[in-house]
Amino acid sequence: MNILVTGGAGYVGSHAARLLDRAGHEVWIYDNLSQGHREAALPGRLVEASLTDGEELRSVLRGRRIDAVMHFAANALVGESVLDPAKYYRNNVIGTLSLLEAMRDTEVHRIVFSSTTAVYGAPERIPIVEDEPKQPISPYGFTKLIMERVLEDYARAYGFGFAALRYFNAAGATPDGDLGEDHDPETHLVPLVLQTALGQREAITIFGEDYPTPDGTCIRDYVHVDDLADAHLKALGCLRSGEGIQLNLGTGRGHSVREIIESCRRVTGRPIPERSGERREGDPPKLVADASRAKSLLGWAPRYTQLDDIVATAWKWHESHPNGYASN
Ligand code: UDP
Repeated sequence: MNILVTGGAGYVGSHAARLLDRAGHEVWIYDNLSQGHREAALPGRLVEASLTDGEELRSVLRGRRIDAVMHFAANALVGESVLDPAKYYRNNVIGTLSLLEAMRDTEVHRIVFSSTTAVYGAPERIPIVEDEPKQPISPYGFTKLIMERVLEDYARAYGFGFAALRYFNAAGATPDGDLGEDHDPETHLVPLVLQTALGQREAITIFGEDYPTPDGTCIRDYVHVDDLADAHLKALGCLRSGEGIQLNLGTGRGHSVREIIESCRRVTGRPIPERSGERREGDPPKLVADASRAKSLLGWAPRYTQLDDIVATAWKWHESHPNGYASN
């Protein structure tokens, strides 16, 4: 198939684009490089443009005879979305609507959409199933929920076929060390802890130690980025006109912030100083996936089931790219 990957120069998008390419699909990357990296995009496949440029979108969708879209391009930081919601509504809602309109005009009706565990807010029942009430507690989560709802309406009215994949915490890097996580500024736990191991940061700050969890720190479900990419490939094969599916993607195992730091100490063999910090706004205490729907509908199961193995791939990337893609 001919596939357009928006945000394909970003973290999860670049891993998915590479997997699609290796599976024999014709892949085009659509990215404005506001967060993505030219080096992460498939060589010779990058269209550098904005999602709000409807004309460019239509021209690429038509000109490249696109069959399906994988839509990764978005802002995805809970904390930032609380401080600057306008940015999130503009890029995640208006940007995605612009994409969907261009798809409608060019009769491209298949889309795999990056959604998030943040649509659930702070759910009571763990592990989380897809039917759990959706009560986002951050603008970020709400923008993704809005777009899931829009996709349902587009499926019903215009025959779109979609999969909304609700990621838990993406982590890790390709095992060969070519692609990895590089955000500016970096806010995610695993890269920050590994940058501390590299001596680039003095200490890792733990955001809150008074949560109702066994060690007082937040629990998350860390899933390998290549496993997420694999789920996208599988979801592509399951898109049906007029229908949509929402799927959790996680390992089903939760790890606390302290457990992440311990894992990074084991994997790197380096001392990693830590310090206590305040809670970060918008962080629920515990998020762990029940991914049985993805298993039964897609035949998907994460290949990385051990936290240390996920961290080891991330460490390989950070050690060989201490300045991210700028190290290349
Ligand atoms: N976290 C932390 N210190 C940091 C960064 C993150 O304690 O410097 C915690 C954060 O509060 C959350 C977990 O690590 O409980 C994962 O955060 P991250 O930003 O990596 O992912 P998110 O859950 O926001 O998608």
